[in-house]
Amino acid sequence: MSSKQLQSVNSIKGVGGETEKTLADMGILTLQDLVMTFPYRHEDFRLKNIAETPHNERVTVEGRVESEPSILFLGRNKSRLQIRLLVGPHLIKVVFFNQAYLKNKITSGQIVTVTGKWDRGRQAISATHFSSGPKTDQIDFEPMYSLKGSLHQKTFRKFMHQALQQMGTELEDCLPHEIRESYKLLPVFEALEGVHFPKDAEHVKQARRRFVYEELLMFQLKMQAIKKVRKEQNQGIAIAYDIQKVKDLIATLPYELTAAQKRVVNEICKDLKEPHRMNRLLQGDVGSGKTVVAAIALYAVITAGFQGALMAPTEILAEQHADSLHEWLSPMGIRIALLTGSTKTKARRTLHEQLQNGEIDLLIGTHALIQPDVEFRQLGLVITDEQHRFGVDQRRVLRDKGMSPDVLFMTATPIPRTLAITAFGEMDVSTIDEMPAGRKEIETHWVKKELFDETIKRMAKELQEGKQAYVICPLIEESDKLDVQNTVDVYEQLSSIFHNKFKVGLMHGRLHSSEKDEVMRAFSEGQIQVLVSTTVVEVGVNVPNATFMVIYDAERFGLAQLHQLRGRVGRGSAQSYCILLADPKSEEGKERMTSMTETNDGFKLAQKDLELRGPGDFFGRKQSGLPEFKMADLVHDYRALETARQDAEKYLSSNEFWTSEETKCLRTYLQNSGALDGDRID
Ligand code: ADP
Ligand code: MG
Repeated sequence: MSSKQLQSVNSIKGVGGETEKTLADMGILTLQDLVMTFPYRHEDFRLKNIAETPHNERVTVEGRVESEPSILFLGRNKSRLQIRLLVGPHLIKVVFFNQAYLKNKITSGQIVTVTGKWDRGRQAISATHFSSGPKTDQIDFEPMYSLKGSLHQKTFRKFMHQALQQMGTELEDCLPHEIRESYKLLPVFEALEGVHFPKDAEHVKQARRRFVYEELLMFQLKMQAIKKVRKEQNQGIAIAYDIQKVKDLIATLPYELTAAQKRVVNEICKDLKEPHRMNRLLQGDVGSGKTVVAAIALYAVITAGFQGALMAPTEILAEQHADSLHEWLSPMGIRIALLTGSTKTKARRTLHEQLQNGEIDLLIGTHALIQPDVEFRQLGLVITDEQHRFGVDQRRVLRDKGMSPDVLFMTATPIPRTLAITAFGEMDVSTIDEMPAGRKEIETHWVKKELFDETIKRMAKELQEGKQAYVICPLIEESDKLDVQNTVDVYEQLSSIFHNKFKVGLMHGRLHSSEKDEVMRAFSEGQIQVLVSTTVVEVGVNVPNATFMVIYDAERFGLAQLHQLRGRVGRGSAQSYCILLADPKSEEGKERMTSMTETNDGFKLAQKDLELRGPGDFFGRKQSGLPEFKMADLVHDYRALETARQDAEKYLSSNEFWTSEETKCLRTYLQNSGALDGDRID
């Protein structure tokens, strides 16, 4: 960066003292900081045809004043000033509230430009902006910044103007020539003018296009540099697994792997073999068969003499995994143990010993399995199921034990590609994008809540045939202001309807985890036919005999969550059904219900969800791990993101990038970002 760019903002006329402090408050210290402060929108001052302007819309018109202004004082500092204005063939009224000072500036016969809200019925504009003279003298777009303190837009724009003047040609352009040429992107100075002082709509658009690309390129360079450095540092274990044994295991499985499963197994195995630490996300729709992939990867690691661990978010899920893996791996001689919060102290002690002396190959459990007192002899791979993030703390625990095992995260929340490569940009991503053959699509219907009785009758038919059902309700609290169906109410209602015929169980977040597990177990063993539950069943549970699901107040759920819930049925070979009981008020809500009935494809729904709710809400309100972009928008700029990703990849693997003068600015950025430092906990 040039020294001009790093010059303090107090070199601008009018900046000092209080204003300098306010700017500092906004994070603006240097001229560079200032010009990189982007407006949140541009006010549009283009002339519009008044005859075509809808009622209540903002409009800018140019016209001749046809009357001396008349003013009415309405008490303390309040006034109403009115003129008649001839705009083309239309004679309209223009009203200024509380702008009495304009009285002496406006005279009959003068040409003026005004902006304000158009009242079609009264043929009047309530003006917020006035300038004397024709429109041609003024700008079309005015940037609006979010400012602090008593700083005014106008003052800020003056500072901006000066800063750009001062820096002028000394502004360094971080984008290499070649890139600008091939994508026809504006040079930095013109782009900054396009943001802060645009000539026209096209100028704004082109400026935005340049900064979106630049921002995404830098972001991708950073993410990929982190990955690359980690690989080069080789701080992992190279796992020399026995390929023949792995093939033998696959041959014993009760089904043929899908092509997608084979592909991701290969991707994972390639990572295992290399000396860097694997940091991979495995995503696949509900029911796409991630568990068996996990089993194969764990088995591979064990054939090389290492231990493996599989971590699940709940006890019941851990038990289910233990059952599945036991079935597949015990015949191969693998020794498996289960460790959860309810493992008794004595059993736990034995288990710790066996882990340490290598008598256990594979440990399956909840978070309990990475507690400080759990010591492995030689841990090679940790797999976490159904979790977006394996916490920094948990990784630290492993590292403190002197271990840097490979890590694989599995998630059934399909993440649209744009989000996957941003939120998980520093990870490698494997995707199972195919369902096992012969799966029947879940039949989904959206019905009005008044059809509750019919729905329950339909459900009874299913139960009669020996099947099971879920009934999902959004909230447990009776006191909730929203008129949502209460889980307990529904439970009682169904219990009395099915009295003596079918057993109904109740599950919600207020239950103790051991109580939850008990209910879940009873359901999966068929002692309970109907499970009334809040969304706690959302995660991973596998009860193939459950073929019917009713979701109460379905409009209260997001698409991703509805899809997760629906994934609890359709896990066996029988036809399954999902009934959405919903009376959505908003268009968006209706669209969500319709989308659910139209597709069973989690990735399509995820993309839809992203479009409906935007990236911020996609992961829920909790910290999403998404970076904040100044210009880029992950919903609309996905093409730019993909291009930037490929360019970053090309750059990082070329020698030229590391030596050329053209890419010096990008290199400096990378160095300052810390991405090249390595040795991070992430
Ligand atoms: P998820 O990806 O949601 O965790 P699971 O691993 O629980 O899915 O798999 C869902 C069901 O599909 C299980 O019963 C599993 O045994 C079965 N399955 C997995 N892979 C295949 C396959 N290739 N062919 C047939 N069934 C499969
Ligand atoms: Mg699963």
